Amino acid sequence: MTQLALVTGSTSGIGLGIAKSLAEAGYRLIINGFGEPEVIDQALANVDAAGPESPIYIGTDLTQPQAIDMALSELIESDGPISVLVNNAGMQFTAPVDEFPVDKWDQIIALNLSAAFHTTRLCLPAMKAQNFGRIINIASVHGLVASVNKPAYVAAKHGLVGLTKATALETAEINVTCNAICPGWTHTPLIQTQIERRAEELNTTIEEGGRALLAEKQPSKEFVTTDQLGALTRFLCTDAASQITGASLPVDGGWTAQ
Ligand code: NAD
Repeated sequence: MTQLALVTGSTSGIGLGIAKSLAEAGYRLIINGFGEPEVIDQALANVDAAGPESPIYIGTDLTQPQAIDMALSELIESDGPISVLVNNAGMQFTAPVDEFPVDKWDQIIALNLSAAFHTTRLCLPAMKAQNFGRIINIASVHGLVASVNKPAYVAAKHGLVGLTKATALETAEINVTCNAICPGWTHTPLIQTQIERRAEELNTTIEEGGRALLAEKQPSKEFVTTDQLGALTRFLCTDAASQITGASLPVDGGWTAQ
């Protein structure tokens, strides 16, 4: 039977890139995320074209633990173990800590951190039973260092790096690995507002706004691509990567080397 891979938040950006890459590697994908019906259809068509079997779509809101529980329990029961779990869904909101809206804090912690705990706890028993599993948490450079005006995001991503290490230790003696990928600036809808704001501040074009963001933090001065993150995820699923566990791998053009 074709092995299943779940990529959360895969209707867009990094998650979609990773889903396509895993489909190319032969996995049957479970796609999750929001979007207009045509956006979701397009994402599913792209993954379908890349892989061996039609993807499954679940529109579960990952800020809701009960909904996660129900969706994953049903999926595992009907389609079997999820062999690869990529916790990618995430959101951003920027404001200083003393002005940060409490509801945004709760939402970011729920989606960027707690959702990964819930999917992990629900997928792990079947991974253990089949003695194979790959859990890949899409953290961020902000899981390793901080920036101003991102208190919830930085806290959630540091927490996700911690969850990665804890899970890796508990699964170290079986063929289940858990790693975090820590991307720097990657050009997706998630950072579009920040690019637009920077362009406005500098009274310049969107392109120049993007260049200004890169110049400030990312020494390569180039955006990471979703294809690059897809390729690394795919490698982490191979046997060659079976001794890489508990790692937090920066893909950031040198951001965290500074
Ligand atoms: P994106 O906005 O393009 O994609 C986010 C995905 O999450 C979408 O599919 C969206 O529908 C889904 N989503 C949002 N809320 C959800 C919810 N409540 N339940 C289920 N799905 C939900 O963003 P992206 O840039 O591709 O980000 C993907 C991940 O990569 C995030 O965890 C983000 O923190 C991380 N990341 C992004 C960058 C970057 O520069 N873009 C850098 C480092 C880390």
